[in-house]
Amino acid sequence: MSGVGRSADAVIDFHVHPLTRVMGVERLVRDVVEAGVETAVLLALDLDPSYLDDREKGTRFLESCINAGVGFSARILEEVRYILDAGRVSNEEVARIVRENPGLFVGVGSVNPNRGVDDVRRMLRDIDRLGLVGVKLIPTLQFFNPLKEKRKMEIILEFCEKNDKIVIFHTGCDPLVWESPELSRNSHPKLLEPYIRGFRNVSFILAHMGSYSARFPGIWFRDAVELGKRYDNVWFDVSAVPYILTMREFADVVSREIGWSRVLFGSDYPVFAGESIKSILDYVRSAAVISESDLWRVLHDNASRLLGL
Ligand SMILES: [Zn+2]
Repeated sequence: MSGVGRSADAVIDFHVHPLTRVMGVERLVRDVVEAGVETAVLLALDLDPSYLDDREKGTRFLESCINAGVGFSARILEEVRYILDAGRVSNEEVARIVRENPGLFVGVGSVNPNRGVDDVRRMLRDIDRLGLVGVKLIPTLQFFNPLKEKRKMEIILEFCEKNDKIVIFHTGCDPLVWESPELSRNSHPKLLEPYIRGFRNVSFILAHMGSYSARFPGIWFRDAVELGKRYDNVWFDVSAVPYILTMREFADVVSREIGWSRVLFGSDYPVFAGESIKSILDYVRSAAVISESDLWRVLHDNASRLLGL
């Protein structure tokens, strides 16, 4: 909202993880306010730390680690369990933080397509009842291939269409073992095309613009841009990849092929390289190679339009 009484440089941060298991809500609120963020979108993550305890799934996962050249050790399973445990945030928790800090946050729920159909439906009803504005899906940490979970994907997207919710997909690699593109292949943007085409009334936000990878920055950037060119219900956030705004090799492609009206600022706080929201914003503001007005759309106006704020 660019309405009366708002600070002229207030920002909407579209990608924040309220990791209540590793940090307090007070600190989250302080960092958001200190950064001059007007509204932060809090993402739930429906993760299952015991997923790989199942002998067959654990063995299959370790085999894919070997094939991807990541190695083989019991420690990998321990590390994955830790990340899934530290990263999970329930829909109820997100709704509570939103409720207890009026005006500061907007909440997005999450549902893991590995759950049974009845469970998925129940969680979607919860997401609606709790006033959350969308559904976050992360094929890496939720261990699913969007094309193989057709039935549940359709249930989720029909829910979004009917209830006017957005859907946010993690795209690109992820930290730890998922830095291996092979292990992150379920988060390739191209897997979403049939759904993007089939649900034209649902806004799909491709988090990280297909680009996050420590080893190969911009790994599936081109594929993400292609989807944006073909479908106007595709949006992007630049969380964990702020260089899309600061490096010409990326920014020029966006300017030329899709423009900046569907690109959203996100910090990925607090999981992005230990950076504060303020430090990421300072970097973006000082180094962006796009026009002031385009940057302002990315930092504020596009998110405001999408969320109807
Ligand atoms: Zn994230």
